[in-house]
Amino acid sequence: MHEHIDAIKFAQLQKSRSALKLMKCLLMLTFASLLLAFAAIAQTAPAAPALLEPDSRYKADVLLVVAHPDDDVLIGGFLARLSLDEHRRIAVIYCTNGDGGGNAVGNEAGAALGQLRVLEARRAMAHLGIENVWFLGRHDTPGQNVLRSLDGWGHGSALDEIVRLVRITRPNVIFTWLPDPVAGENHEDHQASGVLATEAFDLAADPIAFPEQVSPARDRGGMSNLTESLLPWQPQKLYYFTDAFENFSPYWNDPDELPSFRKTIVDGTGPTYNTADISPSRHVSYAQLEAEQQAFYQTQEGYLGEQALTKKDFKHFEDSVHLIFGKSVAGGAVTGDVFEDVSAYPVPFAHVRGYEPESHTGVSFEIGDPWRFYSLFWKAHNLDRLAALIPEPEFSARYGDKLFIPLQACNYSAEPVDVTIASQLPTGWTDVSGAARYPIRPGDCYPIQEQVTAPPAGKGEWQQVAWSATVASQPALSVKMHIYLGNSGGLPQ
Ligand SMILES: [Zn+2]
Repeated sequence: MHEHIDAIKFAQLQKSRSALKLMKCLLMLTFASLLLAFAAIAQTAPAAPALLEPDSRYKADVLLVVAHPDDDVLIGGFLARLSLDEHRRIAVIYCTNGDGGGNAVGNEAGAALGQLRVLEARRAMAHLGIENVWFLGRHDTPGQNVLRSLDGWGHGSALDEIVRLVRITRPNVIFTWLPDPVAGENHEDHQASGVLATEAFDLAADPIAFPEQVSPARDRGGMSNLTESLLPWQPQKLYYFTDAFENFSPYWNDPDELPSFRKTIVDGTGPTYNTADISPSRHVSYAQLEAEQQAFYQTQEGYLGEQALTKKDFKHFEDSVHLIFGKSVAGGAVTGDVFEDVSAYPVPFAHVRGYEPESHTGVSFEIGDPWRFYSLFWKAHNLDRLAALIPEPEFSARYGDKLFIPLQACNYSAEPVDVTIASQLPTGWTDVSGAARYPIRPGDCYPIQEQVTAPPAGKGEWQQVAWSATVASQPALSVKMHIYLGNSGGLPQ
């Protein structure tokens, strides 16, 4: 009996197994036919266009960010070498048209002069084989306070434009003015272009910095695309240059005259390129090519280039081009070639420290803006090495100038304090500040504007000025500055 029942169960089991197999087969057939159907649809569905690459016509190896048409001449011999003989692609941004300058050859001034200078720059750059040149059209503002230029230029909108151009040109290396107000290189526009280029170096790969630039356009072939479809881009190396090395500088014509406290800006701070070398493609020296470049700037100091070409004497253009290494996210030695260790492939976003508040106690005393700004700026952008270039802040002035010296005292204690300020000035200087005692509430920083008058005359020399701050509760605090006093040149403060 049991055997019979088992036989029935066995038959039922076999039946259900067969049914399961059949179902599996049916499912597989259905799946296979679905796949075939999808494949057929995929073959007949319209294809999306291939993803486009960024426009290669604007790709740069080097992006130069400067303030004025003719700032490029300072490193012109090196630009000629890179462009004409090493076939590096170079793009240039001029933050202003140079509308605040003088005109050595004509009556045109202001905005009209700016339009002439735009063409002078385009022609000078084209002579070196450089065509990708942009002008941001900000005002040329002669002065010594970088923060004034940044204010006048619209700091945010100028940065927006430079970040956009970094994303368009995708440079591996950026050259710009040294963001450090050293005597001989304190033009606030130069300084502002160096600050903006540094900020753009750190922001262009950040997708939430000006995100509208890196948001894909909805329909690139259509109209009203209000986002830009650029890609984030991280430049790899940042180099600076400074007028303090310029052969025409009234402050430094002879390296032997360089005071010991300024050697730190030269020795071992970056690569040096010889401009007396002969260009293999042009068969003339890079110094001559720089003179030819200078000659295009007729409204400015073009005569210097023309004179050199007439006399065939290029000694004023033969000073080496010295770059100051700012930073690298790709490695390479400080004095190594600018392309040393540069990757041929895009590199990822390199995060910088940003602003980090310091903890203080008691009363602090320091030199105010723009020097205070720089001390914070260098730290925030991982440029600590710049703080060591010129450890003591400096500026330049003319004999007889009345100068404002910005100082700042902060009270981090829980009690109100009275801070007494005293100046220590060399012979011939006069302190005309008036006030000397500053009441400061807990938590406040008092911006102090000291006023001094420089000696009426002299032969041109470096001097040191100092200020001390005395508070009842702690030892006296002091700050020092170097001032180069000259008889000509110099920018309004
Ligand atoms: Zn300039």
